Amino acid sequence: PPAETPQVVINAHGLPYQNAKLPVKKRVADLLSRLSPAEKAGQMTQAERNALKSQGDIAGYGLGSLLSGGGSVPTPNTPEAWAKMVDSYQLRAQATRFQIPLIYGVDAVHGHNNVIGSTIMPHNIGLGATRDPALAEKTGAVTANEVRATGIPWDFAPCLCVSRDERWGRTYESYGEDAALVSSLETVIQGMQGRADGKDLSRNDKVLATAKHFVGDGGTAYGSSTTGSYTVDQGVTTVTRQELEAVHLAPFADAVKRGIGSVMPSYSSLDIIGDDEGPVKMHADAAMINGVLKDRMGFKGFVISDWQAIDQIPGDYPSDVRTSINAGLDMIMVPTNYQTFTATLQDEVKAGRIAQSRIDDAVSRILTQKFQLGLFEKPYADTANLSKVGSADHRAVARTAAAESQVLLKNTGNVLPLKPSQKVYVAGSNADDLGNQAGGWTVTWQGGSGKTTTGTTILDGIKKDVTDPTALTYSKDASAPTTGYDVGVVVVGEKPYAEGIGDVGNGHTLALTAADQAAIDKVCAAMKCAVLIVSGRPQLIGDQLARTDALVASWLPGTEGDGVADVLYGKKAFTGQLPLTWPKSESQLPINVGDATYDPQFPYGWGLTTLKKTPPGGEVTLRALALAANFVKADSPAGKEIATAARQIVQQKIETHLTQATSKPFADADHLLLTGDLKGAIAKLTAAYRAA
Ligand code: BGC
Repeated sequence: PPAETPQVVINAHGLPYQNAKLPVKKRVADLLSRLSPAEKAGQMTQAERNALKSQGDIAGYGLGSLLSGGGSVPTPNTPEAWAKMVDSYQLRAQATRFQIPLIYGVDAVHGHNNVIGSTIMPHNIGLGATRDPALAEKTGAVTANEVRATGIPWDFAPCLCVSRDERWGRTYESYGEDAALVSSLETVIQGMQGRADGKDLSRNDKVLATAKHFVGDGGTAYGSSTTGSYTVDQGVTTVTRQELEAVHLAPFADAVKRGIGSVMPSYSSLDIIGDDEGPVKMHADAAMINGVLKDRMGFKGFVISDWQAIDQIPGDYPSDVRTSINAGLDMIMVPTNYQTFTATLQDEVKAGRIAQSRIDDAVSRILTQKFQLGLFEKPYADTANLSKVGSADHRAVARTAAAESQVLLKNTGNVLPLKPSQKVYVAGSNADDLGNQAGGWTVTWQGGSGKTTTGTTILDGIKKDVTDPTALTYSKDASAPTTGYDVGVVVVGEKPYAEGIGDVGNGHTLALTAADQAAIDKVCAAMKCAVLIVSGRPQLIGDQLARTDALVASWLPGTEGDGVADVLYGKKAFTGQLPLTWPKSESQLPINVGDATYDPQFPYGWGLTTLKKTPPGGEVTLRALALAANFVKADSPAGKEIATAARQIVQQKIETHLTQATSKPFADADHLLLTGDLKGAIAKLTAAYRAA
């Protein structure tokens, strides 16, 4: 720290709130009773670190929190530098009258993604494909470990969005289109925070998690807004009350039960069909935040606004401030003009437009988490775990996640798994691009192409698996000669993006680029080929589908391309299942399982397995398979494949899971499938599913 930095002794005053032996409630009450209006306003303020006019403002305004936002540049480039930076801010906070530590926050949405060299997990959409709650918990634990090692106790993750329209540019931040799937992977919260009572938060490998974005962010019409410039993913979610509850609120109710420490409202607006009111900005929605989240669900943590989101509430700034605080927001991600915010907040309280009790509630909620996190005792980074950032054991978790997230959509003639002895021709825009396979929110907000951090590309992984390295040719644009090869692997898909509408041009098209199509056409015309789509959401494969022998949805697998190669070469079996519906065409959007008409390219839950035996019960959802069988035309090749898979699953469910009472219809369906009566089986499965 610079020479003029105040040297302070942590918790020097010996006041009750500083006594770690007292219950948190008592400590909060004691500290709250000592705070001035300005100090309370400060606690409710989160500034972007780059917005600080001077570091002295941390104590000067008594800021409660700082963040490194997505667009925060320049960022330190080593874990050590991150820890030093955060410590330097904490030291400044120690200069406040009561030495209240900052709660520093970052978006570590798939690993500690701001930090070069950290372990980058598959984005959530890939984790949705794994259907593996234990794995999701591990990814949360790894992320928390790496984040806390750099002195950061708070993560703006996980996104509990239920993505209902793939045109939404944040689809990849979602675990999928089904609320139950999202809820099942909320084990990630335990991985991040530890026990639901918050007693693990003070550990040096846990962080406070944030459920976002409350509520309906994944349900906006067209995945976007027709107004605004870059706010194109922040539209209006128009739903019935029933759909709101079942699809969008349910994951948040589960998160509250799991002890989620903070919640971030959505930029989007909510329009409930049948209510008189028009669309309401979520940051102004008292009925939802106070009424549903806090009162009904019993959320005890604190509500942090999204970036500058209160400014979008109609009305002048004082109205934005009082409307949002009165709606139940506890801390505002201002994030730049903290001077005006703290002053306005105090004015509104003085004028009686915000009740003192509301302020005290907000500050108590924030302080409670700071005490639970152990920040008063240990405000600085515990660097014991710094060497864990990007460590081999952490990368092993990410590699497993990458492998399990791969969804085998098609495998005609069993092209996959590949054999190490085969001559392989690797091509395509995303075969050898670490940045592209990591996606947005990687090192920088938007992410970027190329070697932006440490890891292995899919090509790197393949190289390790071939017996004879000289039998491998890589040609990004497939311009090298294609003759003399046993098999081609073409890796195509999206380029990184964050928020906005994503890598889709102005037409919102999810079609593969002409270059990607050409690479597929060239390689697949010359040899047997497997096509991998690296993307944050389904891509329209169109005419190319028929030309491929195998097709894999790879999602955004993160830094461990080795994991993708693991399933390509059969070191692990493909077990992933689609976390959302894969459409045939743009005109089908939005398309979700359960729609009245449902004729997708690949249905929700679809995924072939290269397992020799079907997996043990519980790893594959019966519901998904039943629905898949229900919706695919009996006479199509896909229908036949689904029939086979469904038959296996049904068989295995009968053996392992189902009670006598429910197994009968499934056994009947299984029999019908065996005899080739798909329609009959579908009818049975549908009836059984409905009954369940
Ligand atoms: C995003 C949030 C994020 C915040 C802070 C916003 O633009 O919507 O998800 O947590 O920025 O970086």
